[in-house]
Amino acid sequence: MANETSVDTLTRKEAASELERLAEVMADYDRQYYEEDAPAVSDEEYDALRKRNLAIEARFPDLVRGDSPSLKVGSAPSAKFAKIRHALPMLSLDNAFSDEDVADFAKRVRRFLKLADDAPLAITAEPKIDGLSLSLRYEKGRLVSAATRGDGAVGEDVTANALTLPDIPDELHGEAPEIFEVRGEVYMTHADFAGLNIKLAEEAAALAEAAEAAGKVVTAKAARQFANPRNAAAGSLRQKNPEVTRSRPLRFFAYAWGEASEVPGRTQTEVVEALGHFGFSTNPLMRRFDHIAGLIEHYRSIEAQRATLGYDIDGVVYKVDDLELQKRLGFVSRAPRWAIAHKFSAEQATTVVREIEINVGRTGKLAPLAKLQPVTVGGVVVSNVTLHNEDYIAGKDADGGPIREGKDIRIGDTIVIQRAGDVIPQVVDIVIEKRPADAVPYIFPDHCPACNSKAERLVNPRTGRLDSNRVCTATLTCPAQAREGLKHFVSRNAFDIEGLGETMIETLFDAGLVHQPADIFRLQFEPLREAVEARRRELSELRRTAEGKAVPEKTVKKAETSRAIENILSGIDARREVPLDRFVFALGIPEIGETSAKSLARHFDDVRGFIEGVDAAAKGRAGEDWTELSTLRTVGGNTFARMMEIEPTKLEDESWDPLKDTSLALKANQRVALKERYGEASAIREAIGRASSHAPSEAFLSLSKDGDLGPVATQSLISFFEEKHNREAVLALLEAGVSTINERPKVPAASPVAGKTMVFTGSLEKMTRPDATKRAEALGAKVSGSVSKKTDLVVAGPGAGSKLADAEKHGVKVISEDEWLALIGEG
Ligand code: NAD
Repeated sequence: MANETSVDTLTRKEAASELERLAEVMADYDRQYYEEDAPAVSDEEYDALRKRNLAIEARFPDLVRGDSPSLKVGSAPSAKFAKIRHALPMLSLDNAFSDEDVADFAKRVRRFLKLADDAPLAITAEPKIDGLSLSLRYEKGRLVSAATRGDGAVGEDVTANALTLPDIPDELHGEAPEIFEVRGEVYMTHADFAGLNIKLAEEAAALAEAAEAAGKVVTAKAARQFANPRNAAAGSLRQKNPEVTRSRPLRFFAYAWGEASEVPGRTQTEVVEALGHFGFSTNPLMRRFDHIAGLIEHYRSIEAQRATLGYDIDGVVYKVDDLELQKRLGFVSRAPRWAIAHKFSAEQATTVVREIEINVGRTGKLAPLAKLQPVTVGGVVVSNVTLHNEDYIAGKDADGGPIREGKDIRIGDTIVIQRAGDVIPQVVDIVIEKRPADAVPYIFPDHCPACNSKAERLVNPRTGRLDSNRVCTATLTCPAQAREGLKHFVSRNAFDIEGLGETMIETLFDAGLVHQPADIFRLQFEPLREAVEARRRELSELRRTAEGKAVPEKTVKKAETSRAIENILSGIDARREVPLDRFVFALGIPEIGETSAKSLARHFDDVRGFIEGVDAAAKGRAGEDWTELSTLRTVGGNTFARMMEIEPTKLEDESWDPLKDTSLALKANQRVALKERYGEASAIREAIGRASSHAPSEAFLSLSKDGDLGPVATQSLISFFEEKHNREAVLALLEAGVSTINERPKVPAASPVAGKTMVFTGSLEKMTRPDATKRAEALGAKVSGSVSKKTDLVVAGPGAGSKLADAEKHGVKVISEDEWLALIGEG
């Protein structure tokens, strides 16, 4: 936590209150994690708190509280279950996070046992299974009770549930001690976890569907899904009804024991072997070593196998092998002295790229996604990671040049991924040594996987280089784009049609009922009902096959379906009239987001006016040279305006060096950007010349400036309407009866500044700058940030600087704030 005081500077009083706070907060987190199987924070965040608590306690040992997290194991058993007191406590483990921590552990053990540095000391290493621990009590070979760890002293009675697990024998095989408590970990494999979550999602969908059919608003509170296999295992074992546990694919590894009338072995290794003979699964990766180096090597090897084990592990546990020595070492508060857990990084994990999938988005962008061997990172199962674009995968740009985030990712590669907190997972490294011999560089498709049209890389006007994204050249004929476009059209900030979400759009699109937005407004009751019913049949068929057994088909009453359909139709009717900005945003025009849509709505009365404005701008659109220079990083604004005012004679003069001309007032970073993009002075001079001769018309500038779009978005808007399909789709909406409202205040006829371009500068004393701008715009003025010869009026307050000078240079009228207020009748 970045904003917390360093432990070293805490006063005693602060330390005490902080320890109190930590005890309280962590008890809360423990309860949610252990009792409700629903962690409130990530493990990483939780572990950071635990570390801080330990660090404060190390500085102020006399402040350690009775309820300190450093003394506690787990959390109190839930009242949902009967309680079982453990004959021997079930403890936690101390953690090691580095090789040095492991060496320290061995040193501590030797010191405690008074062993020489070179005396033999056998230590076992085995995977730390990420599940929940369970203690099974056998008397005369029969299972009599099963308890969770709870708070270490008292656990929850889950005997009936444990008996449903195939890995847990009701009766021990062979000759077993009279009393024997077997301890181990209940866990769930990745495959079973994924299957369970699909099943839960389908149950939720079925519930939602039934609710929808009954005409109820679905509140999405149905069977919840699990965040990771550990929570799924805990949630499945800790069920009131053992039959639910039986239906969940749980497994068990035995690795320890509690009370025993006789311990079946003299070492850890021997007892674990005996556990195998009694009928338990034990982990095949357990090994014994005489040296730390062996432990660390095994740790690395287990870490490398982590993604392919098929179940989650979060570290490797080391245990002193000799049970006599274990006894002598004993325990400290919450953990044995003879064992330690060497944890893996909580945020990073190694996994394998199984394939690379290309998805086509609304704008036609081909987005590559790596499908991974699922792996749990930061408490969440990650099975996909974005590969961004073609250059990212290749590790070089279109010209073969290196890129900052170069990767060269291939199918079959072993990669390290990272996910911290809520951050989207990303690839941090490729383990080149593990690359399969036959792995070849990935060939990015040059055709759209959805419609097979050509997919191209266009020149990015902002950089003048080929864009790193490849886009499908078909627009409205590409089904992937059309489908995504329709989803965007009905989305919350666009048309926001009640009852018509993403799933329903997919149903209607697949049924061939809706191809383009206007089709939504022509939907009729009967075909809509048929499509919805067909989809419902398909879903229940899917569910039947998923569950592999006959599930009676739910009969949805005809009246219920009718009500649902009517709801959708009335949702559509309610949106036949929408605000202009929503309409513009819904079209999904590249570069036109909500903000631009709002600016455009301020500028135009309705859809037709908007299209006319775009058409007028199209007649004098900017040349690429102009757009490129005007949007070059760090240039633009006033500097660009000054460049465009340079006399043609200068541009033809070979001795003129724009980088040295003081009238351009170039800043150092602008000179760098110009040099980087164009090179020598002569090339910059030519670029300015080309831009000047390709300057756009007034109509273009007016759209670009007043719509607050900038030249790139303006070009995009023009290109959108130049495409016949797009124009027809927009007009079709109007023909289908869609109209817009525009709540922008009408400009008073008698406004003294209607149509004028004005600039506010200096500090204003009677109004804020945004208020002044709003007021001027309401009166029909265009408010600009820079003064040029086209400016009509400058309102200057005290402290006005360069803009005032510019106004004088161009002979623009300058008035004071009071004069401005008088002019608009508010003086
Ligand atoms: P732990 O899980 O770090 O270690 C102790 C446990 O390891 C044992 O009880 C046992 O169940 C298990 N284990 C698995 N394989 C084993 C093996 N081969 N040999 C011996 N033991 C083995 O400790 P803990 O106290 O159970 O839990 C702490 C962990 O839980 C932390 O990593 C923490 O991040 C997480 N946690 C998270 C939250 C949260 O809100 N996110 C809250 C509480 C705890």
